[in-house]
Amino acid sequence: MSASILSGKPLAALFQQEVQEQVHSLELDGLHPVLAVVVATSDESTHWYVRSIERAAGRAGVGCRIINLGHDATEPMLAGVLRELSAEPSVNGIILQTPLPPGVRTDNLVGLITPEKDIDGANPLSLGRLAVGQQAFAPATARSVVEILDHYQVPVAGKAVVVVGRSAVVGKPLSLLLLARDAAVTVCHSRSGPLERYTTDADVVVVAAGRAGLLTGRHVSSRTVVVDVGTNVLPDGSLAGDVDEASVTGTAAALTPVPGGVGSVTTALLLLHTVEAARRQSSSRPLPGTAVEPQVLEAAG
Ligand code: NAP
Repeated sequence: MSASILSGKPLAALFQQEVQEQVHSLELDGLHPVLAVVVATSDESTHWYVRSIERAAGRAGVGCRIINLGHDATEPMLAGVLRELSAEPSVNGIILQTPLPPGVRTDNLVGLITPEKDIDGANPLSLGRLAVGQQAFAPATARSVVEILDHYQVPVAGKAVVVVGRSAVVGKPLSLLLLARDAAVTVCHSRSGPLERYTTDADVVVVAAGRAGLLTGRHVSSRTVVVDVGTNVLPDGSLAGDVDEASVTGTAAALTPVPGGVGSVTTALLLLHTVEAARRQSSSRPLPGTAVEPQVLEAAG
């Protein structure tokens, strides 16, 4: 039997529609949500990704400012721009796009994005808030995984969920979101030993390692639902996930495709977070330091 394919596209379309509706409602109040994307690289695939955000924003009616500082931008230049954007009232959401120029430390900069505009959950304050159950924007990719599982009614409460990868942008925030949904979460990384030790008994395996073909059919069982976050450009220029699709399709219960899986939902969520940020900023509702109500988590990630 072949695994069911859990496409991200229908869910992305639902979120895009929600963004359009929210933009319309904000416009009735005289508000025009704006996302700013700060770029400092000549990497062509990054520019392609940023243009895809710009196009999606244009379709949804969200303003999109690309601030391209060039591949030789310095840390003080980037810091200055992030401070300005954080203080600029017409900007509602900010993304600092990686990679950054050699020598520039991402972790020196992301803390300069004010949490109210941190729509991709890059500021350590956002991660800290998620960790203790306070309201914050989760990184859009991490939220995409949870939304896909919800959309396809894959239960996680009380289930064994393995997350492969522990980065601050995907693995860690994702494990926090899953914990908040009562999953029994195991986080694997490059030093955790053979993957099959953790994955063969798992109900859900999420792979976010950036290693093409890392998860194969022998790592999973016929009841495993596999979510592939990886995006790897192969030598022939094609895009592949972290899952060996041929063998996992023959073994697992379900699998998200690459492309057309997690990535397609991520962009729509970045825009949804931007309109949510615009609404909050317009009503002067800073992110509260109070316990998260479930329906607020749905709205803000
Ligand atoms: P990252 O910062 O490089 O982190 C990779 C993680 O995977 C690390 O925790 C690393 O362990 C772990 N890892 C590496 N090799 C491993 C192995 N052989 N076995 C087990 N764990 C291993 O990458 P990232 O930013 O989290 O991104 C991960 C992947 O997701 C990339 O392919 C990226 O392109 C993709 N991505 C996709 C989206 C989307 O929207 N679809 C968005 C963001 C990222 P250590 O910590 O021990 O080094």
